[in-house]
Amino acid sequence: MHQDIQEILLTEQQIKTRIQELGQDLLRDYQGKCPVFVCILKGAVVFYADMIRAFDDHCEMAFMQISSYSGTQSTGNIVVRQDVSMDLTDRHVVILEDILDTGRSLQYVCDYLRNKGAASVKICTLLDKPEGRAPGVTLEADYVGFRIPNAFVVGFGLDYDEYYRNLPYVGVLKPAAYTK
Ligand code: 5GP
Ligand code: MG
Repeated sequence: MHQDIQEILLTEQQIKTRIQELGQDLLRDYQGKCPVFVCILKGAVVFYADMIRAFDDHCEMAFMQISSYSGTQSTGNIVVRQDVSMDLTDRHVVILEDILDTGRSLQYVCDYLRNKGAASVKICTLLDKPEGRAPGVTLEADYVGFRIPNAFVVGFGLDYDEYYRNLPYVGVLKPAAYTK
């Protein structure tokens, strides 16, 4: 285990097993529909790479990067830094995200992609923190890997200041790691 990690919340094996199950769920709903899997950069990259390989049918890949500039009130203004490069008209879109917290980012991305004329837009998230939802956000994920308590986690794509994305598990940082 990495020296900055206090506790492993989800092991590599647990995540691997769950991704296979999610792949089956997606196959049940999207077989023959050639879905477009949209990866939300950068956090979802690791999950994405495993997820698309757990989906045993035709699909297409797309990438999108967003930033959220939360002011003092944490209003979460979202900016699209990189847009999907393909036509989504009449396509079945599945957004793959690392974690659903306040729900503001995904709310924005969902509306944004629906406005591109997608036939359907669903959300598949590795992690969900149900207690984190912002007031007024009713959005829920359609496919959830794991529901976790309201703690800050890193690994499997999730970062703290760009570090720890490469950890093969999801864990909680030691308090001392935040001072780096
Ligand atoms: P929200 O749902 O709050 O709009 O945004 C979710 C985004 O906040 C995620 O994509 C991720 O970048 C960040 N985030 C939320 N909770 C955590 C967490 O526990 N750990 C890390 N590393 N990022 C988080
Ligand atoms: Mg992040």
